[in-house]
Amino acid sequence: MQNSKIIIVGAGGAGLVAAIKAKELGASVTVLCKQRPTNSQTCMAQGGINAAINSADSVELHIQDTLKSALGKADSKMVELMCRAAPEAIEWLDKIGVPFSRDSSNTIAQRMLGGASAARACYAQDYTGLKILHTLYDQCLRVGVEFVCEQMLIDLIVEDGICRGVVTLDIRTSSLQQFHSNATILATGGYCGLYGEYSTNASNTTGDGIAVALRSGAMSDGLEFVQFHPTALKNSSVLISESARGEGGYLLDSNMKRFTDELDARDKVARAIYDKMIDGEDVYLDITHLGEDFIDKHLPQERKLSKLYENIDPVDKPMPIRPVAHYSMGGIQCDNQTQTAITALFVAGECANHKVHGANRLGGNSLLELVVFATIAAENALKAPISQITSDIDLTNNKEFIDSLFNENATINFYHERRLLNSTMYSHVGIKRSKTKLTEALKIVEQMSQRVEQMGVLDTNKTYNTELVEFLEFLNSLYLSRQIIQAALKRESSCGAHYME
Ligand SMILES: Cc1cc2nc3c(=O)[nH]c(=O)nc-3n(C[C@H](O)[C@H](O)[C@H](O)COP(=O)(O)OP(=O)(O)OC[C@H]3O[C@@H](n4cnc5c(N)ncnc54)[C@H](O)[C@@H]3O)c2cc1C
Repeated sequence: MQNSKIIIVGAGGAGLVAAIKAKELGASVTVLCKQRPTNSQTCMAQGGINAAINSADSVELHIQDTLKSALGKADSKMVELMCRAAPEAIEWLDKIGVPFSRDSSNTIAQRMLGGASAARACYAQDYTGLKILHTLYDQCLRVGVEFVCEQMLIDLIVEDGICRGVVTLDIRTSSLQQFHSNATILATGGYCGLYGEYSTNASNTTGDGIAVALRSGAMSDGLEFVQFHPTALKNSSVLISESARGEGGYLLDSNMKRFTDELDARDKVARAIYDKMIDGEDVYLDITHLGEDFIDKHLPQERKLSKLYENIDPVDKPMPIRPVAHYSMGGIQCDNQTQTAITALFVAGECANHKVHGANRLGGNSLLELVVFATIAAENALKAPISQITSDIDLTNNKEFIDSLFNENATINFYHERRLLNSTMYSHVGIKRSKTKLTEALKIVEQMSQRVEQMGVLDTNKTYNTELVEFLEFLNSLYLSRQIIQAALKRESSCGAHYME
């Protein structure tokens, strides 16, 4: 019997879980990604992955905490599905070799994260995402998943409302490629990179997959809900994980006084810090009282990051911090089987809105979400009809589009515009919003869109043209920024991460 051919775009945690599961179910699987499989937001995750697997916790508590944090904007059935699947997800990760930290009785250790009523986050020191991603990649190679790297998704092949594959820009040669499939899973990550230096995410986390899907007829859901993480290093926005507060760290103001419940929901802690900053104060994360041995054992990465990016050893001194954009709760709309509005197009991970985070994600629930829903996406992708792989389509329009981006007469430098977009998103579509600020932001974005014709790629080289890739990412950022602002304007009252002054 002919195998189902599945294309997965994105090689973060979601993409790799979907790839392993689909391959194990008998599909022929190709993973396409912009960079290398071991380079994504997933490898930056530090704090942990949630599952109620100790006697002080229960699945019911996990569900309750998640729903409470989501403030009525999650679907209780989806939350229940995710929390009930969590113990099995951890068991699977453990089985394939993720080196989770263990306690003295050799059971998987768990730590407290914000908004949780029990220690629930399983971790691998503070390298959780890195260890998970590397283990998943090893497993992909073991089961024979095919990888085609340095392929940037630029379009979907949609015929009669059915997704038949994808069109990519081969970054190595600037040429166009087409990949055909019976089903496609988008796992391209979130959009917090469009906050630029005001984000914990890499600058290329520009929601490309979401932009491409929306332009092809998929729907968005909850784009206005952007989570700001309370504790990024002040001068670099490098994340100091919630595990630092979970292990007992304090938040201090300029007078070295605690001013908020460190483990309250993220939106509340972020606002408390933001208010201090608006009053002209500096805010610090202090773990000095935990002692060097404890820090080296439980928070080694936080110590390294602080020394490297802030030149402060947190064993001796509190770390200066600020809240920055961290996680996109919104994304591509899908049903409870991860199916989008386009037939045979499924979504998993941060690019999707699986309705489990609502207005405010709990720390540790994102890694969990991607394991649970990537598994569901793989199972459903295999149910797509396996006949009729289409023959090559005419790419003239895509080619003309790419050619039009080269503009040696460009008078406006898009890197300057990108910086303006990033700072506008932080100041106007940030932690505290208002109708006036959002309307102003929309105007700035619309004016910027009108200037696009005067921008373009100056470098005509076809080999590894990073300027071309970054211009495409900028165009996606601009498109999505407008969508986010419009969604925010529609939601007039405050709700979790969307706070209206
Ligand atoms: C610093 C940091 C710490 C975090 N800590 C935690 C934590 O402790 N616990 C937790 O639960 N969550 C945490 N998170 C959130 C969590 O890591 C992410 O939500 C999750 O890893 C997203 O996984 P993903 O597979 O959906 O996307 P990603 O890991 O971002 O992967 C996206 C993939 O898509 C590819 N891609 C993107 N665009 C294109 C394109 N146009 N064409 C082709 N490929 C493309 C990328 O190259 C990449 O391979 C953290 C996030 C950050 C940034």
